[in-house]
Amino acid sequence: MKKQLLITSLITITILSIGLFIFYPSVRKNDDYRLRIVCTTTMVADAVRSLCDDDVQVISLMGPGVDPHLYRPKEGDVHRLLAADVVVYQGLHLEGKMSHALESMRAYTNVIQATKSVDRSLLLASEFDNLYDPHIWHEVTLWQEVVRYLADQLSSLDPVYHEVYQKNKQRYLEGLTLLDHDLREQINTIDEQDRILVTAHDAFAYYGRAYGIKVFGLQGLSTESDIGIKDVQNMANYIVNSRIRAIFLETSIAPKSMHALEQAVANKGWHVIVGPALYSDALGAADDVSGTYVGMMRYNTHAIVRTICDAQQK
Ligand SMILES: [Zn+2]
Repeated sequence: MKKQLLITSLITITILSIGLFIFYPSVRKNDDYRLRIVCTTTMVADAVRSLCDDDVQVISLMGPGVDPHLYRPKEGDVHRLLAADVVVYQGLHLEGKMSHALESMRAYTNVIQATKSVDRSLLLASEFDNLYDPHIWHEVTLWQEVVRYLADQLSSLDPVYHEVYQKNKQRYLEGLTLLDHDLREQINTIDEQDRILVTAHDAFAYYGRAYGIKVFGLQGLSTESDIGIKDVQNMANYIVNSRIRAIFLETSIAPKSMHALEQAVANKGWHVIVGPALYSDALGAADDVSGTYVGMMRYNTHAIVRTICDAQQK
């Protein structure tokens, strides 16, 4: 009798679970439910926002100017992650200090790794064994693949809104195709021998590959690596020998190292302009033109072109 009762209970629970699943096929709990998507970086949050309508709350754990390589989750972040319906992170070890914590969130909620579907043969190697260069958003066509994947993942988690995600995806991808074309045209206005970008760390390798500009970072791919006097001297020699006239700061890295480079170059009798800070690893403030991915890419390219062209004329 007891055994029968147990079986009946199990069947009831199973039927109820199936019933709940059928009744609530979406990650949304009901029609009026406001979905909460928690993202790690500002770039990922912007991609998700571009795919969702206003009834979705998209939160970025990292704010403008925050360095994702060094970011450690705060107590409030853990609460936000646990309260999320969906967690989205970039992956490729960009969120170095958070990677394990993010993967372990799968036990509690839906987790999407935004770069999961990107063809690995298109990725650049990093200085670390078995890891790729994570700065893929600087090559628009790679970021388009991320947008496609995110839209499809959100569609399958929230199928009631499938058409919304697909429609937004289509519109946003068209805008990115136009952006990709414009960036290439702008870089092409720099004289070919002057298309050299020197920045604080190696964030722009994809950008360089996509838009035809040589790139050099004073620091490695991750800001966790140290910069030695030798690195500064080697870069200073390269700048003098290549007659480079402009170097660039980055918004998420302290300017100290680039000013040391400027001084090292000056000690060798050459002069470089320290150009404006580029948005390498985070978007700008929400109320600024650089507060969206598209705005940030346009701002960076405009700053690079204007600064290099002006410096060459001096
Ligand atoms: Zn970086």
